[in-house]
Amino acid sequence: MNTFERSGKHLAIKSWQKLNSKVNAGFTTREGGNSTRAFHSMNMGFHVNDDSDKVRENRKLFSKEINFPVENWIGSQQVHAAKIVKVSKEERGLGSLDFETAIPDTDGLYTSDEDILLTSLYADCVPLYFFSPNDKLIGLAHAGWKGTVAKIGPAMINTWQEKESVDVKSILAAIGPSIGHCCYEVDDRVINEVKVALDGDIEKSVYKKNTTGNYHLNLKKLNEILLLRAGVLPENIIVSEQCTSCQNDVFFSHRKDRGKTGRMMSYIGRKGD
Ligand SMILES: [Zn+2]
Repeated sequence: MNTFERSGKHLAIKSWQKLNSKVNAGFTTREGGNSTRAFHSMNMGFHVNDDSDKVRENRKLFSKEINFPVENWIGSQQVHAAKIVKVSKEERGLGSLDFETAIPDTDGLYTSDEDILLTSLYADCVPLYFFSPNDKLIGLAHAGWKGTVAKIGPAMINTWQEKESVDVKSILAAIGPSIGHCCYEVDDRVINEVKVALDGDIEKSVYKKNTTGNYHLNLKKLNEILLLRAGVLPENIIVSEQCTSCQNDVFFSHRKDRGKTGRMMSYIGRKGD
């Protein structure tokens, strides 16, 4: 199946694993960790006022679940912008066991090196994943509404084309679990930015006005359209079905939990021989 599937306590992009058994990509749930209260239980975020020792324990636990040592993880301090940074083996461990060493002011990471796990944190925003099997490139981008309208998805595609000489037709993309259009209500301010991002060429499936005068925004769809316009082939895009707000027993949700909640982690890595 062409989507995010259950594998133990997390979700995995199994179709990419089938394509290349060395690639490990997926998304954590809130299950199976040590954190308590609003952070129950697998909180992966250091920046949300959870006990940092618990977060470290959670990360070590999860590194065993996916068999990818925590010393090889790289994380960034996300700021809802569209900057893309290439990382290499020298940066392994940054942001893996604390917030302070994470790559600053960055929402998009990619690498061509093996034995690195790129990581990114979520509670409703859209996790984007990128993989170019021929070029051995992997990437992650964090796309809330701000990052989405700043076009962080196309920014990754353009970077790979310009700096890595990648043929856009060879790029696979996945749009992970996030808040769905069912639960994501926004106002005019956001919709105006969406219109700008789409150059006024609005596709009906992106948002719908509701009876209160606000809108239900489909952020996954918006990201998909922007990736298609950047040249990614439709058959190369996977879109998750899960809504992080509807499934509150499985996911942390910033909206549903009214701001005080934990973080899930998106990840992608490529194992060496
Ligand atoms: Zn929902």
